Amino acid sequence: MPITNFPKISGIAKNNIKITINEKKLRKTLSARGVMQPDILDLSTSKTKKKGLLATVATVFSTGIGATIKKHFQNSALNKIDKRFDALQQDLPRVKDTFQDVFMRKDIDTKETSAMLERYRDIEKLRVTGTKDDYIKALFKEAKKNFGFGDIDIPLHIDDVIDNSEKCAGSTKDLMNQGIHIKRNRTNMSHMNVIHHELRHEKQNYIAFNYDKEEYVKTAIKSVYKEAKSNKDDFLYDTVKNISFEQYYDDMQDAAKNDIYLIEKMYGKADKSKLSEKDCEFARKCLKAKESRVSGKVNYKAYKNNFLEKDAFHAGDTIDKLLG
Ligand SMILES: [Zn+2]
Repeated sequence: MPITNFPKISGIAKNNIKITINEKKLRKTLSARGVMQPDILDLSTSKTKKKGLLATVATVFSTGIGATIKKHFQNSALNKIDKRFDALQQDLPRVKDTFQDVFMRKDIDTKETSAMLERYRDIEKLRVTGTKDDYIKALFKEAKKNFGFGDIDIPLHIDDVIDNSEKCAGSTKDLMNQGIHIKRNRTNMSHMNVIHHELRHEKQNYIAFNYDKEEYVKTAIKSVYKEAKSNKDDFLYDTVKNISFEQYYDDMQDAAKNDIYLIEKMYGKADKSKLSEKDCEFARKCLKAKESRVSGKVNYKAYKNNFLEKDAFHAGDTIDKLLG
């Protein structure tokens, strides 16, 4: 499992969170690593979708006749967006069903659907008239609200693609408020898709954590244990090679409690009564899948077939098809 970040203790101290475990121990025990298990959204077999041609052309021409051409392309793009969203406003029952499905919110009614569409319309226009970062930030904020995370601070990080061979378009880290990373310049998958994909992972984590916080953390630790045990290059390999999971988990108790404490700082107190029966069923599936999740770099087929990924790809692809 490719891990890019460890918890930043300085960042936590800033928020006055009492740390009961020091950084050295955290790195050594790394229950956090499992809980933070990043979703590396692997695009190696994703459909290529070229977008933003008009925006690209618009960037090339910026003065003189170029500016006129740019204006022309922009207006044409804006008109297309209006046509698309006008048509969606005429199709509210279908759009409402899609929103309810993607955001896992049965409470979304027709009126809210229509209001959401108008906000997405403005954001899609920003894709043409604004900067890429403006667009990503606005889309993230909107999607976060629609997933029901309006009050939860999920930081957004916009990163450059450093290595062109890199397949990752986004990632989710669900501990210590490290937030969601979105790549600025990935063109083979839309930001509409990636942002909703990653926030759907956040929703999975939120539901699974509220369903059973101890089990959630235990499952994350188990996945770290299994991964380390199967890989001689893993720096935890020597720690886990001769011990059972039960022994390892015994050693992780302090770290596990700390993980729960930090996650509750972000999500609020875990409370199963927030969940519907359907959510509970979903939580059980997420917990099962979390344990067996593998990185796309290790086994792409297994990665794509894991329930957590299938579910997140479904959400991202569905909204992209509707609005993108
Ligand atoms: Zn994913």
